Order: sequence, then C-alpha cells, then structure tokens
Amino acid sequence: MDGAVILIVEDNEKSLKLVRDLLQHKGFRTLEATTGAAGVALARAHRPDLVLMDIQLPDIKGSEALAILRADHTTVGIPVVAFTASAMAGDRERLLATGFDGYLAKPIDIKIFPEQVEQYRRQGRREP
Ligand code: MN
Repeated sequence: MDGAVILIVEDNEKSLKLVRDLLQHKGFRTLEATTGAAGVALARAHRPDLVLMDIQLPDIKGSEALAILRADHTTVGIPVVAFTASAMAGDRERLLATGFDGYLAKPIDIKIFPEQVEQYRRQGRREP
C-alpha cells in the first residue's frame, strides 16, 4: 500500500481509531477529521489518495462534503468512498448515484477492510 494517504472523516471516535489502526498496520498513512468541514480542509491541504467519508457528521452531511470536494479543482480528482452504517436496501445505489466512488458499510470486516480500501484506491474516480 506503499504509504498511500487515506483521509478518514468519521465522528465516532471508536470507529475512527479502529479504521486508523487497521490502515496504519497495513502501511497506509492516515489523516483524520471528525467533522465535514475539517475533512474538506484536510483534503484541500494534503490531497490524500482516497477519502473515507462518513455520512452522518456533526456539521454537514457526507454527501455535502463530497459536493464541496467535487466543486474544487484541487480535490475533484480524489476518490471518495462513503463509509456508513446505513444498510437499508438501495442505500448503496443511492450513494453511488450521489457521486461517491464506492461504499463501505459499518460495521467493517476487519480482515478484509484494508484490502477493500486498497481496491478503491487503485480504482480511483469512477467518472474523472
Ligand atoms: Mn457519524
């Protein structure tokens, strides 16, 4: 995973730490934010290789943060994967239709999670 930088935007501290530790253990570097605004700021400043975006955040929705990143030429090329506990039928399709490049459901499967992230990183933007 060659030190690829993953920005984790997640307001649940336990979830954030779990994901961070799993990814760092596999050789990723991580950036962390607990609000949408902080996530957008970090993405602009560091241009990570991929963003994991929680949907329910304290300030703005993950889909709103996505829209901000897509409207900014410095961040438009960064793949953004929805990271959400919502698991109702149609959620995955709805999030992909919103413009996310992928979807990872919580709770995560810790055995395969880093590889799922790596696959999305390699895949990149669906519609660059
Ligand atoms: Mn949340």
